[in-house]
Amino acid sequence: MRILITGGAGFLGSHLSDLLIGQGHDVIALDNLITGRAENISHLIGNPKFSFVKYNVCDYLHVDGQLDAVMHFASPASPQDYLEMPIATLKVGALGTHKALGLAKAKGARFLLASTSEVYGDPLLNPQPETYWGNVNPIGARGVYDEAKRFAEAMTMAYHRYHGVDTRIVRIFNTYGPRMRPKDGRVVSNFIVQALQGKPLTVFGDGSQTRSFCYVDDLVRGIVALLMVKSDKSVAERTDRTKFLTQKSDAILDSIHDPVNIGNPRELTVRGIAEIILKITGSKSVIEERPLPADDPKVRRPDITRAKSLLDWEPKVELEDGIRKATEYFRQVIAR
Ligand code: NAD
Ligand code: UDP
Repeated sequence: MRILITGGAGFLGSHLSDLLIGQGHDVIALDNLITGRAENISHLIGNPKFSFVKYNVCDYLHVDGQLDAVMHFASPASPQDYLEMPIATLKVGALGTHKALGLAKAKGARFLLASTSEVYGDPLLNPQPETYWGNVNPIGARGVYDEAKRFAEAMTMAYHRYHGVDTRIVRIFNTYGPRMRPKDGRVVSNFIVQALQGKPLTVFGDGSQTRSFCYVDDLVRGIVALLMVKSDKSVAERTDRTKFLTQKSDAILDSIHDPVNIGNPRELTVRGIAEIILKITGSKSVIEERPLPADDPKVRRPDITRAKSLLDWEPKVELEDGIRKATEYFRQVIAR
């Protein structure tokens, strides 16, 4: 397949590029580098299966030749980044998704949206199944990201139902691993870097809020499995408007085009992950509490029943092993 990845120089986009090229596909990575880094893909430069285009996905998109899939990963993803770039975040989720879908439609390509567990907001249900509609504050600080992704999901389903585009939506839960920026502000990168530098680990609030952490190799394996599954509907079925207008909206999601959670269901408190990182790094750092950011979700854990049955996928990397690998990476980055 010839696959365009928007956000291809980011943390996840670069790992996806590696996996897809390793499987024999051709990848075009498109990225404006607002949060991504050229060094994430520098090892791929010169590979005939890879090309890089520095470009804003919100602008008019043109790609020469055939395209089999568009994977839309462009978007600031760390809360620190999207709070600093609220309008760019809204634009890439809205205008960027529209452009990427338009390109997929024009090329007859499959489309995969990188959505997020943030569509569930501060969930009132734990774990979160894909049927849960979420609890999002649209005008809160995190609304710029959550609502952009919710809009992106709605736009993706509209292109599927109206234009028959062969779409996929993955709801990604907290993922960590090599190539995260040491200062990107996410909890695992922050804590490992702080532990390695002997600085206090900054726990926001009392650290009782929970997250579930997936190692990047597990995540990209699940996403590629979702991309590769053949559509379970013909184009005529995909565009049968009477059907989707009358079907029960709380029906169990049953099509490959409906969202799929990908993440690791092992749930930990933030204080718990700080303690694991202190143990694995052997650091003498102390834990310091800092103010809890507004609307910070109190719990988060994926229900991965759908991914298991549809994709025969589940995570394999134990948290402790993943943290060791990520620590090795950050040790090297800090030493540079
Ligand atoms: P990242 O910041 O490393 O990567 C995002 C990439 O998108 C960056 O390279 C950035 O430069 C690029 N980008 C942003 N706006 C762009 C634009 N307008 N045009 C072109 N490129 C643009 O973040 P990531 O962790 O790799 O996240 C990738 C995707 O996965 C995002 O859509 C994010 O919302 C989603 N996601 C990630 C996680 C996670 O835990 N990493 C969780 C949920 C969802
Ligand atoms: N967090 C923390 N200390 C940090 C960074 C984050 O305690 O230095 C907390 C944050 O408040 C949240 C959790 O860790 O409860 C995960 O934060 P992250 O920014 O990684 O992503 P989120 O899941 O909130 O999108």
